[in-house]
Formats: sequence, structure tokens, C-alpha cells
Amino acid sequence: MTTFPVDETPDTAPTDIVTARTGPLADARAQLAKAAEILDLDDGMHQMLATSRREINVTIPLRRDDGTVELFSGYRVQHNVSRGPGKGGLRYSKHVDLDEVRALAMLMTWKCAVVELPYGGAKGGVTIDARSYSPGELERVTRRYTSEIMPMIGPERDIPAPDLGTDERTMAWIMDTYSVNKGYTIPAVVTGKPLEIGGSLGRPTATSAGVVHTLAAAIAERGLRTKDASVAIQGFGKVGSHAAWILHEQGARVVGVSDEFGGLFRAEGLNIPAVFKHVERTGSVVDFPEAQAISNTELLALEVDVLVPAAVEGVLDDSTARTVRARWVVEGANGPTTAAGDKILADAGVVVVPDILANAGGVVVSYFEWVQANQAYWWTLPEIEEKLADRMRKGYADVANLAQRQDLSLRDAALCIGVRRVAEAHEIRGLYP
Ligand code: GLU
Repeated sequence: MTTFPVDETPDTAPTDIVTARTGPLADARAQLAKAAEILDLDDGMHQMLATSRREINVTIPLRRDDGTVELFSGYRVQHNVSRGPGKGGLRYSKHVDLDEVRALAMLMTWKCAVVELPYGGAKGGVTIDARSYSPGELERVTRRYTSEIMPMIGPERDIPAPDLGTDERTMAWIMDTYSVNKGYTIPAVVTGKPLEIGGSLGRPTATSAGVVHTLAAAIAERGLRTKDASVAIQGFGKVGSHAAWILHEQGARVVGVSDEFGGLFRAEGLNIPAVFKHVERTGSVVDFPEAQAISNTELLALEVDVLVPAAVEGVLDDSTARTVRARWVVEGANGPTTAAGDKILADAGVVVVPDILANAGGVVVSYFEWVQANQAYWWTLPEIEEKLADRMRKGYADVANLAQRQDLSLRDAALCIGVRRVAEAHEIRGLYP
């Protein structure tokens, strides 16, 4: 049995495995290595699952509004397509690189398998700070990127969705570019679209709703109810802000929130609707008057029942993880805990609800959107909410049962379920030729 501890990569591994020693890809591979060991996967299967199935790297020239031309790197990675088409978001951020996209694509594979969606895992990215460009410039970048990755995507091949820095409007441009090139309208090529062109009710808040379902299930195991819980949330974007809203509505005390500019603390609980209004006005949670200003590092260390990291990868590392005083960490973001951070939290007895389960609500409703588009028949919001709640409850129960039966962390249990389902699909299909 070979495992892939980050520093002892076997000589036989494909080159790209050898290169990634730190960062999100190294962490994702370390997680896979642990699952491969528990599942006793053979070396060949392990290597196959540690490596992307297909990758495309494109250069996107943009004519800026002032007439100058700027180039960007773009990527689409299909980590695995054995259980169905690739599925995963498209990220616009200045931190995007190929290894990050590979890591995120791998997480999508396990995530889709954990909640039993008939998909593989994929991810895309463009190295661009979207906030520094006009809507027209972003539209041109998106259309050119779509045109470059066109051979790889499609409703039966690989279906993008929003992620950091992209939104409904980005998905509308992708759908339009793809459809115009094919000659007819193909709504199922992306999910997370506006309702007017085949989006699903409930999609914009689905990831956050899923986070709240898994949070409730996790704390219920120790007799705590959402309405009695105190929560701190890092990140006030699509996931964090709506999670704060739903938790506040359900009576939880959201005592801390933050965005990239800083954070807020109020021991009695923040007035989340008022924070939303402040963000609408100013673009940030910072300077909200009815709270104490704190830093992001201080937010992670708040004494709360639940900490929800809902921003970017790697925020709970070997130094910040030591400061965590929450009893539960519910990972709204993808990969917020490094391998070292995970070990520190486990040793301290903090229960971590892993990203591939906790934030799966987004891709679950993406799946519902794709099903609705394929059958051209639209479901009501209560139907979607109920189906999402069922999936999340079932996903949590499967993971928690395995964790209990085999004395595993929730992360290892979720990975084992995801990895096993994918490995089984490989085995049943067999190798071609
Ligand atoms: N970007 C989201 C995620 O990381 C959603 C992906 C999707 O819906 O395909 O899970």
C-alpha cells in the first residue's frame, strides 16, 4: 500500500504529483492518501485518483475599455468523470493557479459522490481580480474563456457554476456564448443561472442552507439546538452572508462576522439584516456601528459554539488552528483547513464538519437545476428546499454513521465514502483498452 505523504512522493508518480508539496493540492492529496490507506486502495487506483483526468490551460486576451490589451491565464480541470459529467464552479481570483484548480476539482469529485450526485468533479479558474474590471471587460473575458474551453464543457460533459468572484451574470454569459456557438439554447450547460433563463429557485442560498443543515445535525449530536448556539462566520460573500442570515432567522446568536477587510463582534449577537444593509451601502462589514471591530485572526479565535470558515482555502493552519475555541468547525469554504490545522483541531477535540459535506448544498441545488433544465419542468421553492434538506440529512447521517462505526473523524469518513464510491465506479467500468 502506497500512501502519498506530502514529502515522500514515490518516484513512479506522474510529474505533477511530484511538484505539489505545499498548498491546497498537497492538502487535497494528503486527505486522499489517508482515505486510500483506510480503504486499502491499491497503488494504481490511488495514483489515478490523485491525478486529474483532463486539464486545459488557456490564455485569454482582453481588450480593456481604454483600448489596451491584457492577458490572463485560465484553466478548466476535470479531476474525475467516472460517475458522470464533470461538475464544479468557475473561480475568478488573483490567486488562481493550476494547482489550486486541480485541488478544488478533486474536492468536487468527493463532494458529488458523498451526496450521491451522478457527477464527477471539475473546476475552472481565471487569474483575475474581478473587482478591478468593468462589467463589459468581465463579459469579454468570460466569453473568450468560454470559447477557449468549449470542447471540454457541455450538459453531458462538464457543467460550470458560480464560485469565488463569479455569479449568475457570469453563468448567463457562458450559457449564451455556448448556445450561440451550438446554434440553439442549451440551459443545462451551466448552473447558478438567473431564473429568467432556466435558473433554479433556491440556488443562490443553497450552499448556505446546506451549511446550516449540517451545522444543526452536528450540534444536535451533543444536544445543542441551532437557536441556542453562538456562531462566528468568516467571510461575508455568497456563502457566509446567507449562512449568517439563515442562522439569525433560526434564532442562533451570530456574534462574529468578517470579510477580507476586517470583522465585527457583538456578544449579544449581531443584527444581521442591519449588517446586510451596511454592506449594501459601503461594500464591507467594516465600520458597522453596533459592534466592536475585530481582525480576521481574532474572529477565528472567538469563544463560540460553532466557527464557520466561509471564505478561502488554508485559513485554519498550524498557527490559527491552535487559537480556535469553538467546539465545532463547519467548513462553508472549500479547503479552509490545512492538513496541519486539521490535526491540531482533532487533537484539541474540535469536531470538524468537512467542506465536501458541509458546503455540498450548492452543488446539490445545481444538480436540481440541471435536472429541471433537462426535463424543461420547474419545481417550486418548497419542493427544492425539502429535497435539499433530505440530501443533506442523508449525507450527514451516512458520514456520521461511518465515523462512529470505524472511529474516524467526520472528514476521514466523508472522504472514505466519496473515494470509495468513485473507486467502485472505476472498478465496475473497468479499464479501456
Ligand atoms: N462552487 C460551488 C462549490 O464549490 C458549487 C459548484 C457547483 O454547483 O457546481 O461547491
